[in-house]
Amino acid sequence: MNIFKAMVPDKVIRSLDDLDLGELKARGIDCLLLDFDNTLGPDHATEPTEFSYKMVKKARDMGFDMCLVSNAKSGRSEGIAKKLDIPCVTYAHKPRPDGVNRALALLGKDKSKAAMVGDQVFTDVIAGRYAGVYTIFSEKYEKREIWYIVLKRPFEKLVRLIAGF
Ligand SMILES: [Mg+2]
Repeated sequence: MNIFKAMVPDKVIRSLDDLDLGELKARGIDCLLLDFDNTLGPDHATEPTEFSYKMVKKARDMGFDMCLVSNAKSGRSEGIAKKLDIPCVTYAHKPRPDGVNRALALLGKDKSKAAMVGDQVFTDVIAGRYAGVYTIFSEKYEKREIWYIVLKRPFEKLVRLIAGF
């Protein structure tokens, strides 16, 4: 896959809350690989929020398996995953697909059964697309984010403008 195609997600949602889990089920998908920072919770939070717990419960109640796939340091993401009672892949190296592949192996899932969900084109979307899973771009959880992500957003904006999403 060329890198430009890899930057275009299969689906765009405003928030995880808007994700149509029934539609995913109809596609044969029963596994969510979740970015945490600014997707399932605030950027660089150390604790899940009420929203995080609500989203995990919603997906679990519908029979979805889940795994956090985070580039963050292991301590923080493992703590969050533990509280949410889901497994976690840390140092995922997104945009490389290896973290997504590690998550699939951990859950014993084929890539055709999984969807990657995240708020960044240059990490989550590319990693998901290269791993060959259904890839969902979610608008960021909140405006506030760490400076090095702020720096990437204008380039991401340009990609989204060109690709039309
Ligand atoms: Mg993120």
